[in-house]
Amino acid sequence: MDRADHELEPVEDRRPIVERAVGQDVRLDPFENAKSGIRGVDAVDLLVLARDVRGLQASGISGRLAREFPDAKCALDYETPLQLLVATILSAQCTDVRVNLTTPGLFATYRSAGALAAANPATLESEIRSTGFYHNKAKSLLGMAAALVERHGGNVPDTMDELVQLPGVGRKTANVVLGNAFAKNEGVVVDTHVQRISGLLRLTRQTTPEKIERDLMALVTRPKWTLFSHYLILHGRKTCIARRPKCESCRISDLCLSSRV
Ligand code: SF4
Repeated sequence: MDRADHELEPVEDRRPIVERAVGQDVRLDPFENAKSGIRGVDAVDLLVLARDVRGLQASGISGRLAREFPDAKCALDYETPLQLLVATILSAQCTDVRVNLTTPGLFATYRSAGALAAANPATLESEIRSTGFYHNKAKSLLGMAAALVERHGGNVPDTMDELVQLPGVGRKTANVVLGNAFAKNEGVVVDTHVQRISGLLRLTRQTTPEKIERDLMALVTRPKWTLFSHYLILHGRKTCIARRPKCESCRISDLCLSSRV
């Protein structure tokens, strides 16, 4: 693996062990490692070093995808934290392209949290209908906007604790807003692409977004948390497409334990 790909250098005397293990399906359980037939690396060493190995894989993946997607950023169009919060709520079960077609009119009509909080529910529903689940999304937008007015003077707060208290705002939405509108790395956004690809790469064996996020936060350096999810999302759209991944043209295939090449 190219040394330039590494951002997390392992401790010097561990490097040979770690580098031999990169690309192998390292488990935290040494008995599982033995069953998997991992060669050339002592199972107890692997138990100790499994995190280094996965960290090295994660930093290699991050470095390669950073070069492939140098302009990686949030695919939702927005100019203010409020606009990004609205767009992210609308993006549930909907494509970013569809949301970006819907939001210009919405942002022009509702220029503040107060204006959105005062919206007519039926009118708002018709304005966001094309994004799907419009009844629940309208309810979330109205509740969120009212809470911003009541608790935060109409401004979007910039802490995880405050954001997740808002109606319709979970940890994923809060991470999107904090990472992109406030440039604060408080977590890793785990959407369907991130969930699927981090599993294929064996960066995690968890299946729930909260646990996957916790694993990724431990493997990726904090300044890269927001970018790392952008990289995996872009990789999932371009190369690691669900049901037909293009492993033959994948730039991280040698770091992927699910590669077909
Ligand atoms: S090698 Fe294949 S499965 Fe692995 S990340 Fe690349 S495209 Fe996806």
